[in-house]
Amino acid sequence: MLRSVILAASRSSRVEQLVATAPFSRDVVRRFVAGAQTADALRVTRELVDGGLAVTLDNLGEDTVTPEQATATRDEYLTLLRQLAEAELTPGAEVSVKLSALGQAFDEQLAYDNARAICAAADAARTTVTLDMEDHTTTDSTLDILAKLRKDYPSTGAVLQAYLRRTESDCRELASAGSRVRLCKGAYKEPESVAYQSTREVDKSYVRCLNILMSGDGYPMLATHDPRLIAIGEDRARWFDRGPERFEFQMLYGIRPEEQARLVGEGYTVRTYVPYGDDWYGYLMRRLAERPANLAFFARALASRK
Ligand SMILES: Cc1cc2nc3c(=O)[nH]c(=O)nc-3n(C[C@H](O)[C@H](O)[C@H](O)COP(=O)(O)OP(=O)(O)OC[C@H]3O[C@@H](n4cnc5c(N)ncnc54)[C@H](O)[C@@H]3O)c2cc1C
Repeated sequence: MLRSVILAASRSSRVEQLVATAPFSRDVVRRFVAGAQTADALRVTRELVDGGLAVTLDNLGEDTVTPEQATATRDEYLTLLRQLAEAELTPGAEVSVKLSALGQAFDEQLAYDNARAICAAADAARTTVTLDMEDHTTTDSTLDILAKLRKDYPSTGAVLQAYLRRTESDCRELASAGSRVRLCKGAYKEPESVAYQSTREVDKSYVRCLNILMSGDGYPMLATHDPRLIAIGEDRARWFDRGPERFEFQMLYGIRPEEQARLVGEGYTVRTYVPYGDDWYGYLMRRLAERPANLAFFARALASRK
């Protein structure tokens, strides 16, 4: 219930205005977001890489409505990739891209062209791109664009969401050699017709999908903070004899950093998803919806600012 309310608020420009201008927001945002500038992204990447982590960087922003905004997002990724290469942070750091930020909602061809330019820049920087997955109305379009990009840039990664009923079948399709697939539970509010609604059903689906990916020929990227699913991932890695170069765990910046360090200590590859930029509202609200306990953190930040 609370999750639905927070996800509804994530789409409300009035609530956005309220939260974005509240003085306490800065402290909360800082926990989950590297900062506003490209330089912040590089600084945090350096810290994480020095701590043994791999990184994927996300320039915050989604639901772009003009070609100019989409081009600006593309250009920011090109700058980021150039600077990452100059700082010798690639291939340890790659980028995650939302097609909706590149124009997908109003011009699929433009989104493809922009994504292709980012893939070319990543290739030149000796690193990779992963296409984030957004709400279910975009899944087919995103997978189509992915297939086209993979023709020239085969290491382009996909994201599949275990809460969607279709995902087991998508996992089978994508568990092939050279295919990088990030498996997550899914962060959007989806109808029953397309998505499992209960935690138990979503978790069971995640395990079925994980089994398909870990027993397949691709490169699974297990994106979860859930202790039970991480333990199952470790178990399947042993079972299918997958060393740290054949799969990875992924977690979000600011969430369970001790667990990220523990897994690195155990010899696993762990990639931290690091968002940066001004447009943090939708991202932050999805994090709060996943764990309403974070609202307490929000409230404490508010109290400490009084
Ligand atoms: C690297 C990465 C990339 C992602 N990319 C996408 C994407 O492209 N599309 C998409 O729809 N979703 C994406 N997600 C989000 C994902 O779908 C889930 O919404 C999110 O990861 C929470 O699910 P969980 O598996 O961690 O399990 P949950 O059941 O939400 O959490 C399990 C446990 O993890 C801890 N935890 C989880 N969330 C938080 C939090 N916010 N704060 C503190 N502790 C927490 C708690 O201990 C909790 O009990 C991504 C997640 C990651 C890690």
